[in-house]
Order: sequence, then structure tokens, then C-alpha cells
Amino acid sequence: MPKKVNKISRSLLSWYDREARDLPWRKFGKDKQDPYKVWISEIMLQQTTVSAVIPYFNAFIKKWPTNKELSQASLSEIQRAWSGLGYYSRARNLFECSIIINSRFNNNFPESEKELLKLPGIGAYTAAAISAIAFNNRSVVIDGNIKRVISRLFLLKKPIKSNYNEIWRFTNLVTPDIRVGDFVQALMDLGSQICKPSKPLCESCPLILECDARKNNVELLIPKRIKKNTKPIRNGSAFVIKNNDCVLIYKRKTKGLLAGLDSFPTFGWDNQNDERLNFLKSLNTNKKISNIKHEFTHFTLNMEIYIIDESIAKNLNINIPDDFRWIPIESIENLSFSSLMMKIYKSYLNG
Ligand code: SF4
Repeated sequence: MPKKVNKISRSLLSWYDREARDLPWRKFGKDKQDPYKVWISEIMLQQTTVSAVIPYFNAFIKKWPTNKELSQASLSEIQRAWSGLGYYSRARNLFECSIIINSRFNNNFPESEKELLKLPGIGAYTAAAISAIAFNNRSVVIDGNIKRVISRLFLLKKPIKSNYNEIWRFTNLVTPDIRVGDFVQALMDLGSQICKPSKPLCESCPLILECDARKNNVELLIPKRIKKNTKPIRNGSAFVIKNNDCVLIYKRKTKGLLAGLDSFPTFGWDNQNDERLNFLKSLNTNKKISNIKHEFTHFTLNMEIYIIDESIAKNLNINIPDDFRWIPIESIENLSFSSLMMKIYKSYLNG
């Protein structure tokens, strides 16, 4: 086993030297990694693909090149820059974390996993990834791609969801003492570029000779897949309420789905029980402009979109809560909108 383990780390590192993806947060050779960029990239990459992250990352770094600058930004500015990237609690955590890094650590990120774990928005995976990639600490990093690669290399037959300890043990075994950051990123690259879930490109793999799944011709069966449950469907309604070229916008609650983001009034879909939206129940309109479908990770949303025009809004004498704002339609794109709200807005424009 030690021979196989050494071979894996050596082959993978030399493959990385030749084939590493040139990503905007990466540094190569003797250049030092920038912990701030590693942190931003790791937070953005949670549940999001590299290709979707790159333009957001570049715009973010252009606007806030260091943590010091980011810590002086407002939450709504950060939410605006995050708009469309999804999982919006990440933007709020980023804002809170950046202030702590500025005030308690003088803009220097802590290096150990233990200290990183105390920061908002940094869980076990992200702490290990930052510690390894930014500081070259010997942390054991396990993401979805790495789970698959390790399961195949060592022929781990259990489904990855129920096999964390075994995967951790083998990942720990293959993690070298030097160039840990490069090794971790090499494993990630291998998983996304070569050892793909349903079509692994074994003929191009630098680890083909070490791979037990390949030797046994079972790479397509490892890791064992569990049949996914189909997602539940939720139904809701959204209201574009117009008045003098303005539309009614409010800020969502600071907890739960799309927390703290700007929104058209909606109801029926998010289990929020937001009393500020009770006035919607008195709206009696049948001017539906369209239906949209939107995918969240844990459910599919069917949203009906209604327009309430000025005459109806005025005549209904609706009791609009104080913290709702009338926003000029041409300024909508400056709001911190989620991709769901952008979809509703576009549907309104096309309607
Ligand atoms: S040989 Fe194939 S299955 Fe094994 S690690 Fe490489 S790409 Fe994955």
C-alpha cells in the first residue's frame, strides 16, 4: 500500500504541473497563494460550477481586491454582486466574515482549520480547503469530486453518502506532506476533468495503473449510486404591483430562503409566514401574465405572475407596510435580486 500511495501522489502532482486549470484564484510554482482569493473562490464554488463562478469571482475581485476593501462594503452591495449566483446566505456570511477578519485578524486569515471553522460560513470542508490550498497545511480535503476519485482508486463499494469515514481514511493516506495545496487541487481537477461521474476518461488518467476500479473494470459501478427521490413541487404567486412607473419591492426576512434579498411581493411557496405580505390576500386580480418554473436544490417551484396596475393598486386602498419601497422600473437591475426575481422581472417585461 505505501508504494501505491506514493505513486498516486507523485503521478498526480506531475500531471497537475502539466495540466492544471489556469483559474483566476490559483497561483503556480513559487508564487504564494492569496488566502483572500482562495476564501472567496471556495465560498463561491459551494454548490456552483467553476464556469459559473469565474465571471462573478473576477468582478468581485475587481471591486474588492482585498479583505480590507470588502470589509468596508455594505451588505446590500455584496448581495448585489452576488445576484444570480444562488445560495444567498453565502453573501451575508461573506460580509460578516470579512468584518471579523478585518477587526480581529488585521485582514490576515487564520491558518488553522480550527480557527477557520469559527468564522461565519466556513464549515469543515471549506476550512480544510482554505488551510490546505492557501497555507499548504496537511489538511484532508474531501469534496464531491474527491469522494468519487478515492472510491474508484481504492474500490470502495459503499455509496459515498454513507461512507465518509472510509473515504476520509484513504484520502488521508494519499495526502502527501509537501505541496498539499497543489495535491488537493489536482484531485479536484482530476475529478472534474477526467474521472467524471458517468464517463470517466480512464485512458487519459495519470492514475490508471493504480486504480482498482479500472483494474476490475467496474469504474462505472463505483461509487454505488442511490436512486434520487424526485423533487417535490411547490406553487406560489408573485405580484408586480405598479404605480407611476415604479414597482413595489421589499426586503425578505434575514433568515430562510433568499434571506435579506430584495423581492417582489410573493406568497404561498417559501414557508416564510411573513405578516408584512398579508395585504396581498386582499388583492383581487386575475391579470396573470405568465407562469414560470424555477429549480431550487430541494424543490421545483411553479410561480404564477400577476400584474397589479396603478388603477387597481390605488382603488384597492391597500395597506402597504412601511418598509416596502416603490422602485423606478429602470432601477430594478441595481437591486439585490435572486435569479428567481430576475426571472419574474424578465417575464414581466416580456408579458
Ligand atoms: S482510471 Fe478511470 S476510474 Fe480510475 S481514477 Fe482514473 S479516470 Fe477514475
